[in-house]
Amino acid sequence: MKYLSTRGADQLLSFEEAVLAGLAPDGGLYIPEHIPQLPADWQTAWKDHSFVDLSVEVLSLYVDEDEIPRPELRALVEKSYSTFRHPDITPLKKLTDSTYVLELFHGPTFAFKDVALQLLGNLFEFFLKRRNQRKGPTEKPEKLTVVGATSGDTGSAAIYGLRNKANISIFILHPKGRVSPIQEAQMTTVTDPNVHNLAVQGTFDDCQARFDIVKALFGDREFNATHRLGAVNSINWARILAQTVYYFLSYFHLRRQLPDPNADVEIQYVVPTGNFGDILAGYYAKRMGLPMGRLGVATNANDILARFWRSGAYEKVDSSSPAGQSEPAAGASDGKQGADASGVKETLSPAMDILVSSNFERLLWYLAFETAEGADLAERQRKAGATIADWMGKVKSDGRVQVPVAVLELARRDFFAERVSDAQTLETIKYYFESEHYIADPHTAVGLCAARTVASQNPPNVRQIVLSTAHPAKFSEAVTRALQGSPSFDFERDVLPAEFKGLLERERRVIDVEAPDVELVKRVIEKYVVPAVGQVGASV
Ligand SMILES: *Cc1c(COP(=O)(O)O)cnc(C)c1O
Repeated sequence: MKYLSTRGADQLLSFEEAVLAGLAPDGGLYIPEHIPQLPADWQTAWKDHSFVDLSVEVLSLYVDEDEIPRPELRALVEKSYSTFRHPDITPLKKLTDSTYVLELFHGPTFAFKDVALQLLGNLFEFFLKRRNQRKGPTEKPEKLTVVGATSGDTGSAAIYGLRNKANISIFILHPKGRVSPIQEAQMTTVTDPNVHNLAVQGTFDDCQARFDIVKALFGDREFNATHRLGAVNSINWARILAQTVYYFLSYFHLRRQLPDPNADVEIQYVVPTGNFGDILAGYYAKRMGLPMGRLGVATNANDILARFWRSGAYEKVDSSSPAGQSEPAAGASDGKQGADASGVKETLSPAMDILVSSNFERLLWYLAFETAEGADLAERQRKAGATIADWMGKVKSDGRVQVPVAVLELARRDFFAERVSDAQTLETIKYYFESEHYIADPHTAVGLCAARTVASQNPPNVRQIVLSTAHPAKFSEAVTRALQGSPSFDFERDVLPAEFKGLLERERRVIDVEAPDVELVKRVIEKYVVPAVGQVGASV
């Protein structure tokens, strides 16, 4: 299997090259040259598989045996998911007769990004080790320096994915004093020598500054080449691939939980969505042949995707509403309501606070490809690449692109979309606590609310699976606010996991950066970057 960029089909990469590169040089995202189909006997052969077994089967369809031999692939997958606390890795819980939640938060940082980042870290390490083993004694060993910025909720998953990995250093910038205490503790109590948390000071109200620093570092050719900067953001192909697995697992688990496992049910996945990675994995599963209905895109007030499915316009700012804005997020934290300078709205589900949705480009490519005319596959791929380059250029220059009707219709064949306000998010948390004694985090609640909105139009044989993306303890403020009037609710007893107790008191390692300044950050990286180790077994 080879990989091509969504913005041009000329160059084909191996899986390893696509994973190490992350983003394509033309600005596009890597996609497989074709979507593999499930083997004819998958329904019977895979039905009792564990998460790890399924992962090996699914990944093998996208990674050639001569790139990663099967036993080594299995070892990588086993290692990646040995850090999870639940035997099913991603357990499926029944809420009502027609609604299930797929809990993706049983990894080390209690959020769904662990599913992908645990594997990505091991893949990086595996590839670097192998490259260095193949080098002569005088050749310079390869290393990777991962740099990223976080507003709190996703940095820890990257840190836990890369901690203690050979030849990899990770630097994560967070705004000093502006990250929730639990999230700050999750990041800074990782004291492995290759992990560096940079607490960046700054009094001004500009959350963009840290992201701009990271961008500037990547744009600095010399610095980038010296340190081989890498990103672990959600566009890496390996992350999407890792996430397809739980769609298969939950399919089998749902059937097992039905009173009649052979009943004719249709599964409807509903996914709280930000950068479109989680739900895109479901789209690949569907296209591979996993039976399911339309996929549900659930957004918060940052609703660029919900607007796309309404109008076919992919635009940063809602041009259909009078003020050029959708209504403000109803229950957003006091004084934090509304949009920041970039137009991103702050909501109770911050991991989904986005302006544009980076992985959506991959779906657009498939829509462009399927509506393209051409003599053969290669010609249609080239046309799709040119179309995406054009559309993304328009989004960059004009802030919007309008896709043709045929493209929108195709998008509606496989997806529906719903927007959920903060007020609805809080109501939903309360509703499922009071009716089912289930405590959902605000991101999961966005999914649950969207699922309930469409449920009344569903035929009786539909079973909804809502993807649950974070443990409620990670977003204690929203959960406590939703449930404060419920007499039977007790945060410490009902929500707080044992692993979080004592976390705040543990030893920390943080590097203070006095100002959001690129040069200061560069100096920190140069000082702390771990020198690469050449031959395996060499002592440091
Ligand atoms: C990242 C994240 C999401 C959104 O996932 P995408 O793949 O970006 O759509 C939802 N919930 C939580 C808790 C997350 O961390």
